[in-house]
Amino acid sequence: MRMLEKMDKNFDPEDIIEEFEMLTKDAEKIQRETLQKILEENGRTEYLQKWGLNGRTDPESFKACVPLVTHKDLETYIHRIADGDASPILTEKPITTISLSSGTTQGKPKFVPFNDELMDSTMQIFETSFAFRNREFPIGNGKALQFIYSSKQFKTKGGLAAGTATTNVYRNLQYKNTMKAMQSPCCSPDEVIFGPDFHQSLYCHLLSGLIYWDEVQVVSSTFAHSIVHSFRTFEQVWEELCTDIREGVLSSRITVPSIRTAMSKLLKPNPELADMIYKKCLGLSNWYGLIPELFPKAKYVYGIMTGSMEPYLKKLRHYAGELPLLSADYGSSEGWIGANVNPKLPPEQVTFAVLPNIGYFEFIPLRENVEVQKPDEIESSLLSMEAKPLGLTEVKIGEEYEIIFTNFAGLYRYRLGDVVKVVGFHNSTPELQFVCRSNLLLTINIDKNTEKDLQLSVEAAAKLLAEEKLEVVDFTSLVDLSTDPGHYVIFWEVSGEAGEDLLKECCNCLDQSFVDAGYMSSRKVNTIGALELRVLRRGTFQKILDHYVGQGSAVSQFKTPRCVGPSNNIVLQILGSNVVENYFSTAFN
Ligand code: AMP
Repeated sequence: MRMLEKMDKNFDPEDIIEEFEMLTKDAEKIQRETLQKILEENGRTEYLQKWGLNGRTDPESFKACVPLVTHKDLETYIHRIADGDASPILTEKPITTISLSSGTTQGKPKFVPFNDELMDSTMQIFETSFAFRNREFPIGNGKALQFIYSSKQFKTKGGLAAGTATTNVYRNLQYKNTMKAMQSPCCSPDEVIFGPDFHQSLYCHLLSGLIYWDEVQVVSSTFAHSIVHSFRTFEQVWEELCTDIREGVLSSRITVPSIRTAMSKLLKPNPELADMIYKKCLGLSNWYGLIPELFPKAKYVYGIMTGSMEPYLKKLRHYAGELPLLSADYGSSEGWIGANVNPKLPPEQVTFAVLPNIGYFEFIPLRENVEVQKPDEIESSLLSMEAKPLGLTEVKIGEEYEIIFTNFAGLYRYRLGDVVKVVGFHNSTPELQFVCRSNLLLTINIDKNTEKDLQLSVEAAAKLLAEEKLEVVDFTSLVDLSTDPGHYVIFWEVSGEAGEDLLKECCNCLDQSFVDAGYMSSRKVNTIGALELRVLRRGTFQKILDHYVGQGSAVSQFKTPRCVGPSNNIVLQILGSNVVENYFSTAFN
């Protein structure tokens, strides 16, 4: 519990930076020590014994004995833990909490072990990036308007607490202490964060933020999607929020008793404030600069804005006006990876410096694998298992890698499924850029398109919409093999009425913007059919979000699935029943 001890003393960002500098000076040494610690703590587990490490703790023996694994390989172990088997399976100290990763692509959340060490590394990452952020964008005493939500929590068969990783974090006392020490306690009462209905919680987050309007220094969420979603909601409910503030009475839409009680403690009749907000809203043009208008003391907007969050940046910039957008750290339910220690970089260029003491990291070089793969060898992943993983300090600038980690919570040589690019070093630890998930999203024959390729294609086509002042609210895709030949289907929710000609043009643009050679050549000879654009009814992605939340995901961790697999029946059904029109691209040239 190193961080808790630190929190009890005074939190000094300069100490945190000093510690980070020290840890990254000789990252290789720290990596060896970290691996040694993990293996010493867990050498007697069933899992490590199975691989015959026999007490060895050096990287060479570790890599020679223990195989690379995916979540699927560990599922039986994790399920035994969740079912109550308290023997040392993956860790010697029993796992008492399970995190649910968002599992947006597969359609169902995955179980991963969570423990105190993961909590420690969460705090270490938060504190590290905060310390660097605070150097560039200092904040005084104030509050944070945080759009954070807990997911449903439940007990596993074996009685372990299970919930999303963010929920496990928000519930933790250490988190609250850290937020306080960072001078940014959340505006909203706990009852709102932990409320059972996220629509009601969102409304109350907005209301709490408005009540503390002149104390809000930071507007944040885990992922940028949630911030955009919140202000889109604000556009719908702002008058009701003003009425609540004017009269000091909470809207009848809030029905959860605990939330009503907590909010009524904050809410007092305040007609001046209501008038001010009302005037501000009327004065805005198309809600541009809404965030600084409502919260004039806000210093920045903060959340993960990279990867699958990039498509929301345009809208977020619109709401944020001149306020800087600061992108948050890189991690997953399985464990953290790196902190953003260059907060001034725009979200598109953000890098993550790997913290060498929170796990043992390896990197599978990617480029050569992609090139050597023959079309008939293509699996669902861009990678082949043959490539020799490199150590943290062996990676090269400009290269892309799949990231693998070993952590204190029982994951050994775990393939997270993310592709990263090394863009520099901080001392001797690499600075990574997130590239995409390693799974191919769209592939029919020799074509290989990732989430990033899809995003670029959608961005190109959305420019045509922007000329008509329309935007893509959200998007997803699938591969339709029910036609011969198979074809790509892209689903769009558009912010308003787009004419037929415009949508046809967008459909062609989507098709032409996949620049992958495999796709282009297959389209030319028609071994992949015309691309189909299906336009969805407004509110469809809200229904998809509701569906994920209903099955235990947290809004804070929600990522729209960018490709819907054939097993994801419910999402397929939601999409299918909300298509209002569809278009096919014309011949490919
Ligand atoms: P989950 O554990 O379900 O919340 O999802 C973790 C995944 O979210 C990671 O494996 C990444 O693919 C993605 N992710 C997390 N942090 C970032 C980030 N800073 N930038 C881009 N993608 C991220």
